[in-house]
Amino acid sequence: MKQNFAIIGLGRFGGSICQTLIESGQEVLAIDSNEDRVNEYMNIATHAVVANAQDESTLRSLGIRNFDHVVVAIGEDIQASILVTLMVKEMGVPNVLAKAVNEYHARVLDKIGADLVVHPERDMGIRVAHKMISRNILDYIELSNEVSIAEVRVSNPKFYGKTLGQLNFRQRFGLTVVAIRRSKSDVITSPAAEEMVRENDSLLVVGETADVDILDEKMN
Ligand code: ATP
Ligand code: ATP
Ligand code: CA
Repeated sequence: MKQNFAIIGLGRFGGSICQTLIESGQEVLAIDSNEDRVNEYMNIATHAVVANAQDESTLRSLGIRNFDHVVVAIGEDIQASILVTLMVKEMGVPNVLAKAVNEYHARVLDKIGADLVVHPERDMGIRVAHKMISRNILDYIELSNEVSIAEVRVSNPKFYGKTLGQLNFRQRFGLTVVAIRRSKSDVITSPAAEEMVRENDSLLVVGETADVDILDEKMN
């Protein structure tokens, strides 16, 4: 489904979001107060405009309230980031993702109603650390502050040859298996209770991050 996105702030973070959305065929309005940054995105984004997003009338004239998603990717100017996030939420945008540069900034953004707060350096640090510590977590996506999708390698023989039903998987781990990867080309999606887990499988699970970590420990 095609949705429309507005990206405010075209630094490395906002810029890479913009680029990825465009590559995925989405419509993107790119906004930055810095003309050079906007020029870089002139031929990439659907529309690119030079504007100070802190100015409420500017946000209105850009029709920000009609966007499905707005990304506030202003970093260092914390006051601007907070003010813009607040205004965009007040205008009724349903999905507002805001970038935080530190823990306090993240807390304020969360309090004023940002739907998702990302703290790229911290979040990537967490992700990289999980990958380094764990021999079992192959990949990891945080859907919210508490919920993740993870690909977990089955490396405990207690799981081999048992069905999801026999393992009582959902009740025991609080996680739903959305896919079982058997090999590069063999992926079983939405597995039923009868589906058997085998050695060398990996499980794509969704649930609370704390439960993913418990499953990971069980694999060691
Ligand atoms: P990144 O860390 O993502 O690379 P950066 O360090 O280059 O970003 P930041 O200070 O995080 O820069 O700001 C990101 C972008 O937001 C910059 O391009 C900046 O011009 C833009 N920006 C800052 N304030 C506003 C504003 N009020 N309105 C529009 N754009 C703004
Ligand atoms: P539920 O109410 O949890 O769906 P159920 O008895 O209606 O249970 P069944 O499809 O019969 O569902 O599965 C029996 C058990 O097998 C489930 O309770 C769960 O523990 C496990 N199970 C089945 N499918 C999955 C899955 N995709 N991910 C995790 N566990 C599963
Ligand atoms: Ca920065």
